[in-house]
Amino acid sequence: MNYQLLPFRFERFNDTEYLLTNEVGEYIFLQNEDFHRFVDGKMDIHSDLFYDIESKQIATTDKVEDVVSMLATKFRTKKSILRDFTSLHMVVPTLRCNSSCIYCQVSRKNQDDYSADMTKQTAKNIVKMIFQSPSPYIKIEFQGGDPSTDFEMVKYIIEEAEWQNLFKKKIMDFVICTNLTLLNEKMVRYLKKHNCMISTSLDGPKDLHDTNRPLQHKELDHHAIFEKNLSMIRKIWGNNDCVSALMTTSKYSLGRFKDIIDEYIRLGFNSIFLRSLNPYGFAKQYKEKIAYPIEDFVENYKEGLDYIIELNKKGTFFVEGFAALLLRRILTPFATGFVDLQSPALQE
Ligand code: SF4
Repeated sequence: MNYQLLPFRFERFNDTEYLLTNEVGEYIFLQNEDFHRFVDGKMDIHSDLFYDIESKQIATTDKVEDVVSMLATKFRTKKSILRDFTSLHMVVPTLRCNSSCIYCQVSRKNQDDYSADMTKQTAKNIVKMIFQSPSPYIKIEFQGGDPSTDFEMVKYIIEEAEWQNLFKKKIMDFVICTNLTLLNEKMVRYLKKHNCMISTSLDGPKDLHDTNRPLQHKELDHHAIFEKNLSMIRKIWGNNDCVSALMTTSKYSLGRFKDIIDEYIRLGFNSIFLRSLNPYGFAKQYKEKIAYPIEDFVENYKEGLDYIIELNKKGTFFVEGFAALLLRRILTPFATGFVDLQSPALQE
């Protein structure tokens, strides 16, 4: 053998080819016969195919130490998310919420049940703890319940963190995850002033959104309030990017992905994250009613992604967030830090 194999994994991809991958995320497909020639050490080192394999550090004709050092650099880039330690901190100021989403994953409390509200002392301790992270970046994400039900506590934490940061001088962002329905102009102006972006949930057109995410006061029209407040927020902020949205797929969403994507476009979003149901909380409790086999989601996801690709080809810029994440992981050396794909907690 006039080349050295480097560590790689391989799997038969279909009847005719193998997929080879390595620790730094490089990959190549080889036809069966090329694969066997390659592992038997019989591949022509001057062939285009071998140059491809070598450029991905799956084999080398150079000094192994030099290639290992290059692999180490790539590996460091891929795992760079670990270098800065924890930067994302999720804070739950309250479990109260005015919604009763059919798949809610948290133990939400009714709006008038203050039993799980955070105290100021706890909030102070949390901020202190957050600033113990050696990361130069700090992102504090408010989750719930709906954190806007205890907006005073959100403000307290933001201001406490800003105060601490006068000394720590980190790059700091805030995000509030909310269904938007309780936000008023005063609150939005506060969020804008303190650079707190808004993350929300939109499950599709009115009938679907209201089925998946009814408000506890059933007489209120969730989708209409959502739409009104979305435009109020964008007007105050002066752009559409201040609010990002996520969707969750219930059984009622199956067969409706095109409608859902169209609704996102109608409401001025330029991306969507097509998410399946997570088996926690109410989603687990009511699984007979709202869950589905994962194959059904994958089928719908493919249709949705095809539709998005068609839209882009016709000139509508629109991103599917999960595909974008996966492609970044597959095609680039960079880390995404996407928590749901880390296993068990720190791997990228
Ligand atoms: S908005 Fe829906 S998912 Fe979020 S806490 Fe309230 S009920 Fe649960």
